[in-house]
Amino acid sequence: MRQIDGHTRLCGLIGNPVEHTMSPVIHNTLAEKEGRNLVYVPFHVEHGQLGRAVEGAYALNILGLNVTVPYKEEVTGCLKAVDGMAAQIGAVNTLVRTDGGYKGYNTDMMGLYRAMCSEGIRLEGEEIILLGAGGAARAVAFLCASKQAAKVYLLNRTPEKAWQVAEEVNRASGRECIVPMRTRDHGKIPADRKYLAIQATSVGLYPHVEDVVIGDVGFYQKIHTGFDLIYRPSETKFMSLVRAEGGQAFHGLKMLLYQGVIAYELWNGITVPEEDALAVYGRMKGEMGI
Ligand code: NAP
Repeated sequence: MRQIDGHTRLCGLIGNPVEHTMSPVIHNTLAEKEGRNLVYVPFHVEHGQLGRAVEGAYALNILGLNVTVPYKEEVTGCLKAVDGMAAQIGAVNTLVRTDGGYKGYNTDMMGLYRAMCSEGIRLEGEEIILLGAGGAARAVAFLCASKQAAKVYLLNRTPEKAWQVAEEVNRASGRECIVPMRTRDHGKIPADRKYLAIQATSVGLYPHVEDVVIGDVGFYQKIHTGFDLIYRPSETKFMSLVRAEGGQAFHGLKMLLYQGVIAYELWNGITVPEEDALAVYGRMKGEMGI
């Protein structure tokens, strides 16, 4: 049992719901490993109460907060400042205490990038297939463009959303990097090479574990590496189809790990040693039973 005293700093998560979050495992394990007097707890924030929650957290001297569904966009209106990449993406998942209010960051995307680097996956110069055009896919598209991906085929069921994300990212990056498509047109992607495919839709998420956006085996023959942002289940149908065609496949748990590690680093002004991050990852896998 950790000692809580007059010097204990508090961090937490605001969202709705927050009951199934893994974030306390990440931050409380890091604090324990480092011997830091910090405690992390989830806060369930009712609809319509976000502004009061952020203001109240600041008044209570809370050091930092994570923000989850459904508040990642709305919270930008409650902040003193927003980091450049988070402003571009239009979503904030981490609040860092500064003079006069919180500053917002998006560590989801930094976390995805760190997770990919740790698995030896490159974005620079790559041709990529990105599935989805929701909040997460939009952020991945910005990340791919900013890391100089050669080309990103962005596939979505609702075509208007794919075209809108492509237009925004291409305008911001100053080059025609994102190529929007309807998901059902995936056969038009040239088959003369293999691609990194990033699965950023919510299809296949527990308990709908047999669902997949594209069921056609031919699609998976074009993929050398598949990265699914989903981590429940730890092997999605998308991942098993990639593997069945000889590709390597990863789930999103390391992305979750590193978004937390980066938030912790921002709150405490430190760099977390890789061995500590991996120890946290071990605990997360234990929680998942994998
Ligand atoms: P979102 O904004 O709701 O977007 C959902 C996306 O999935 C859209 O592109 C949507 O297509 C597509 N979709 C939903 N149902 C579909 C169906 N039946 N058939 C085809 N496409 C369908 O969600 P999000 O915030 O981007 O999150 C997407 C996923 O990323 C979630 O599973 C989330 O858990 C995961 N995620 C993981 C992490 C991590 O740390 N590992 C972080 C963030 C997000 P339409 O536009 O056509 O509706």
